[in-house]
Amino acid sequence: MHAPPLDALVGRTAVLATMHHKERVIAPLLGRFLGLRVQVPPGFDSDRFGTFSREIARTGSALEAARAKIAAGFAQLPEARVGLASEGSFGPHPELPFVSMGLELVLLVDRDSGLELAGWHGAPAPYATGERITDLAGLREFATRVGFPAQGLIVMGIADGQPTPTRALFKQLDTWDALEARVSTLLAEHGEAWVETDLRAHRCPHRMRRIARASLALVRAWRSRCPACGQPDFVPGEPVRGLPCAWCLAPTTLARGHRQHCRHCGHEAIRPVRRMLADPAHCDRCNP
Ligand SMILES: [Zn+2]
Ligand SMILES: [Zn+2]
Repeated sequence: MHAPPLDALVGRTAVLATMHHKERVIAPLLGRFLGLRVQVPPGFDSDRFGTFSREIARTGSALEAARAKIAAGFAQLPEARVGLASEGSFGPHPELPFVSMGLELVLLVDRDSGLELAGWHGAPAPYATGERITDLAGLREFATRVGFPAQGLIVMGIADGQPTPTRALFKQLDTWDALEARVSTLLAEHGEAWVETDLRAHRCPHRMRRIARASLALVRAWRSRCPACGQPDFVPGEPVRGLPCAWCLAPTTLARGHRQHCRHCGHEAIRPVRRMLADPAHCDRCNP
């Protein structure tokens, strides 16, 4: 496989399989920086690959889901040789209780060269949240706090203390009137309702910004070339610890660089961090 020149994607059509207007952030960025002409197949139903509101569970990893969307996009636009998909995942934060982690992936597949390239953006996602609501005052407080109506909300029923979309599920709530009407109905019938943020991209401005960042990570992956073979995706990965202490020069637990690994030829390197020395607060000797 020859290394693709930096302008190898310029002017090419890329099919983006999405129904949630992600093209609004992905198309201009990948058009500007990679030269791709992004097209969305009409009437594409990406919800069959899984929804955030629990009716359709996603099977497999984010990467597998994105690959499946790209394959479906190619089926709808067979003349496209480049495919794109974006996939978001949410889960518990590894260290902080009650905080969600959000991970956004933008994946590119080039059918001609066989290249698969990923752009990732991960960060805490406090906007992925929900609450049990028992009165309209509580609803207004929660909805205001999360930024409704710019941030969309989903209302569902509760059974045995758990959010239960099979009991009731309302998604298209664009106004305060619509939101309060749905919640009032559930409160009258059951005395409680579950309200959570709508994580679909077009109803979640936070996600749109992060999808933009994942798109830029994809651009960086394309431009980061292996010095040995010239293939893309020579991006900094896992940290290498041992940044020297500024006082005693002993290695600390802070990263001195990040490992880069070429999956095509196996070339390895460590990209050093910008600063040369660690704050002694991180040193076991100077600040035990
Ligand atoms: Zn290489
Ligand atoms: Zn020290």
